[in-house]
Amino acid sequence: MRGEPPASSPAFTPTLSREREREQDSAPLLQVDNVSLEYRTPERVVRATHRVSFDVHAADRFVLLGPSGCGKSTLLKAVAGFIPPVEGEIRLDGKRVAQPGPDRIVVFQEFDQLPPWKTVKQNVMFPLLASRALGRKEAAERALHYLDKVGLSKFADVHPHQLSGGMKQRVAIARALAMQPRVLLMDEPFAALDALTRRRMQQELLELWEEVRFTLLFVTHSIEEALVVGNRIALLSPHPGRMRAEINSHAFTLDSLGGAEFQGTAQRIHDMLFEEEAAV
Ligand code: ADP
Ligand code: MG
Repeated sequence: MRGEPPASSPAFTPTLSREREREQDSAPLLQVDNVSLEYRTPERVVRATHRVSFDVHAADRFVLLGPSGCGKSTLLKAVAGFIPPVEGEIRLDGKRVAQPGPDRIVVFQEFDQLPPWKTVKQNVMFPLLASRALGRKEAAERALHYLDKVGLSKFADVHPHQLSGGMKQRVAIARALAMQPRVLLMDEPFAALDALTRRRMQQELLELWEEVRFTLLFVTHSIEEALVVGNRIALLSPHPGRMRAEINSHAFTLDSLGGAEFQGTAQRIHDMLFEEEAAV
């Protein structure tokens, strides 16, 4: 073919390093390896998760699914670097996670995660400036870019109290994505929204993922939401959370809702959760 560089050209990558590149591509971005997490109060020790292991690859939409109290939020906080494991290790790009960092940003369920005295744009700019990732001009540009992605360009200069719950969550998502984290962590981000808004937000999150291809670690206790949002699901047993199963859910989208295959998978997951509870 014309225009292709000759084999001797420096642009031509030798086979060996191509193979190395491919190995690196397929190495997990995030490794949760045999991780046990505990809370220590003066009276007792609460074990939140027991020897949980899973790998998240680049551009995965990995969901942690399990009943309330099974340690999902605790796991997410450990990945974020807020809680050290008592056993096992969490690695990001092969390096042990020891503290919080701008490469892992969390979006929470609560609508009050945006300081109310800052405008929408200032909210999105804040972590960029605070982490000294960008100067003021670049931060403003980046903020507007991601506000546009979540459909909120027109609201850049209003304050959070003027926004609906769904819009506030969009701002929180834009703020997180603007940091361009290695992994976006979301803890039941849509759980406090009404059913219709929740659906719309799931749809928008998937559209955003199609566009940006970020890596997502998403927590929910909703089987349906897990199947819609995730391409892979780790099913956790009740307290203390252990890995129950890993489910491939990449085939399901919002369009699958109500379909026989979707219902069947949802039912199987339900039974697995229920069995475990019945056995406790
Ligand atoms: P989930 O997010 O799956 O609902 P959590 O991770 O919040 O579950 O909690 C897991 C377990 O750890 C629960 O039994 C909960 O009561 C306990 N727990 C959570 N936070 C604390 C805390 N700060 N101190 C003591 N125990 C806690
Ligand atoms: Mg939780």
